[in-house]
Amino acid sequence: MVAVIDNSKGMSTVSLINQTEFGILLTDIQQVDYVTWVMKRMLDSFEKPLQIKGNEIYTSAYFGVSIFPHDGQTVDELYSSAINACSYAQKFNGKDRYLFSTQSLNKMAVNQLKIENSLHEAIANDELQLYYQPKIEAATGRIAGFEALLRWQSASLGFVPPDKFIPVAEQSGQIDQIGDWVLHNACQQLRTWMDAGLEVGPIAVNISGIQLRRQNLANRIQNVLDEFNIDTHLLEIELTESSLVDTHDQSFAILKQINEMGIRVTMDDFGTGYSSLSYLKNIPLSCLKIDRAFISDIDKDENADKLIASIISIAHGLGLEVVAEGVEEKYQADHLIALGCEYLQGYYFSRPIPHSEVAEILQKQPMAPAG
Ligand code: C2E
Ligand code: MG
Ligand code: MG
Repeated sequence: MVAVIDNSKGMSTVSLINQTEFGILLTDIQQVDYVTWVMKRMLDSFEKPLQIKGNEIYTSAYFGVSIFPHDGQTVDELYSSAINACSYAQKFNGKDRYLFSTQSLNKMAVNQLKIENSLHEAIANDELQLYYQPKIEAATGRIAGFEALLRWQSASLGFVPPDKFIPVAEQSGQIDQIGDWVLHNACQQLRTWMDAGLEVGPIAVNISGIQLRRQNLANRIQNVLDEFNIDTHLLEIELTESSLVDTHDQSFAILKQINEMGIRVTMDDFGTGYSSLSYLKNIPLSCLKIDRAFISDIDKDENADKLIASIISIAHGLGLEVVAEGVEEKYQADHLIALGCEYLQGYYFSRPIPHSEVAEILQKQPMAPAG
């Protein structure tokens, strides 16, 4: 079995290379762990015997993994790295029965380790910052609140986007400390704005699924709100669909607790990944945020238009409000407003901005597009 990993697109494929070798293409890989998880699941499926004409047949497999672009630029190069790793796995790797091509493993592991090590210093050295992106009420063009988004300017690595360091922090356990920092700083900033007489509306904070699995999340939130004397309706939380996968009843109970405190919960990036409608039924949500991939396809892909209309209609049917994220163009905003979407967010109105620019943007209401 030869697995070739492509980091660029969004599909997984399996193809027969010859009678005994199969190629598997995994795409959009963020973490080495995910590849290992796939290998293990596939190896597990070889554990059970096959029943063929009344006979039990045991089979086995070895995997060699190569990762684009570290292990090769062409299909041939990737294939031969994977074949090499596979034959090493067969010869030397005993029980595990899979092996990464060393180059890819080293590069990915080293990058993740660098991020993890530098993250240790990030809070202490004051390298983290929150930026704020306004959420616009479609009916009035007024700012209905802001989403807090993390920025990390690392002394050693330069600017690292949240998409790169949040997954590492989740894996290393650092997300607890970072998540607390985000909650604390967003609430502290909100208190400063309120004391200055600014009406910024609720602040939405992104919460990782890992934080949700900590039993005391509701208490932690309540403590921060108490510390800065902030009413619960001024804090919202955003959770991605994928963060809810693998969650158990306890997480749902914590979400229920958060909702009962009066904190609105938004499902972020809706429509990507798993899109299970049962979540919508089971989780106490107030709002759905349609992923920006759909928004960028408006007027380009008829199916995207239909899907957006359906998502809005399902959300409204369940009594949920809808936010569209990643609105970059006027025609997208017009289309979403015509479909009854309540809130819009995106570069068309404003990029995420530092706290110092929030007072100025509040003066510009109703919002004109960002110049
Ligand atoms: P998200 O919560 O879905 O945030 C929206 C992302 O889209 C942000 O990227 C934002 O800057 C970007 N964006 C906003 N408008 C537009 C637009 O019109 N066009 C395009 N192309 N992009 C737009 P950012 O800040 O890089 O954050 C990426 C993701 O990282 C977030 O996605 C969120 O999942 C995660 N993240 C950010 N801050 C935090 C945090 O404090 N805690 C946790 N757990 N995750 C965070
Ligand atoms: Mg978000
Ligand atoms: Mg999103």
